[in-house]
Amino acid sequence: MAEVLVYVDHVDGAVRKPTLELLTLARRIGDPVAVHLGAGVDTAAPVLAEHGAVKVLAADTPEFAEYLVVPKVDALVAAAEAVSPAAVLVPSSAEGKEIAARLAVRLGSGIITDAVDLESGAEGPVATQSVFAAAFTTKSRVSKGTPVITVKPNSAAPEAAPAAGTVEQLSVSFGELAKGTKVVSRTPRESTGRPELTEAAIVVSGGRGVNGAENFHVIEELADSLGAAVGASRAAVDAGWYPHSNQVGQTGKSVSPQLYIASGISGAIQHRAGMQTSKTIVAINKDPEAPIFDLVDYGVVGDLFQVVPQLTEEVKAR
Ligand code: FAD
Repeated sequence: MAEVLVYVDHVDGAVRKPTLELLTLARRIGDPVAVHLGAGVDTAAPVLAEHGAVKVLAADTPEFAEYLVVPKVDALVAAAEAVSPAAVLVPSSAEGKEIAARLAVRLGSGIITDAVDLESGAEGPVATQSVFAAAFTTKSRVSKGTPVITVKPNSAAPEAAPAAGTVEQLSVSFGELAKGTKVVSRTPRESTGRPELTEAAIVVSGGRGVNGAENFHVIEELADSLGAAVGASRAAVDAGWYPHSNQVGQTGKSVSPQLYIASGISGAIQHRAGMQTSKTIVAINKDPEAPIFDLVDYGVVGDLFQVVPQLTEEVKAR
């Protein structure tokens, strides 16, 4: 069976969930070979093996932490040359998309970004994407070179599939661009204790209907009862009620959780663009004609200040 390279997104060997999802998808098209760059492969390797990695290619040199993405691209090029994979899968994070784009150029390959599903096809892996502000769902495949595909978080549930996960050292020589952009400092974001918006399995979002920063606690309390991330529409962000880092939509973040709860959000096309691939969509809106109701799985017509606290109490009671 052909091998499929999976770029491992991790923090000092703590593998992030989107990588485990990639391993699950990779198994549909071949044998997953994980590429772990930087410190912590001893911690990561058993987790990667448990989720189906037949092999882990590892390289740990200071360049991966000291410089921005190019050293990682050099390493993936070396891995691709060593393995001749059927595809290279990378999580659709900001860093992942830059890595993937540079890698595709270096390999002379086509690229598919923000896939939400992946299946094997007679002429190579077929990726499902949601395009034109989620107006269409397309299936496409790369027709030139080794397919490079970025996959959105929550596109698959990680499944255990124990494999060997043997660790092999990857030898990397860095090109002249590798040290082009140095990391000067890193400032950890203040933690809210909530999951990262783009990776969260559940997102609870508030819009203009929340009617003020002082009311957003209603949304946060529901989010916390569900272990969810908090999102916001642009109207709420532009009004200064919630940070831009939490904005969902065309000019915000794109999320694809198992459950998306929109409260006091009308469902403008630019908002849909960032959440329409969510698996189950629930909306709470006092206007029965609100466009958001066209795409929901479950809709509640009502005042969010009555409905959301009741929902929170109900969830807490379970
Ligand atoms: P509104 O459209 O005003 O809707 C508020 C909703 O709340 C209404 O449906 C109302 O019935 C309901 N409501 C009010 N009070 C209550 C209550 N008490 N209980 C229940 N429901 C209530 N938007 C984004 O979200 N993300 C983007 O990334 C984004 N990018 C954009 C990019 C461009 C180039 C442009 C032009 C626009 C963009 N927008 C984006 C803006 C978008 O067009 C909408 O203006 C915005 O999404 C509206 O936000 P909203 O739904 O919160 O507000």
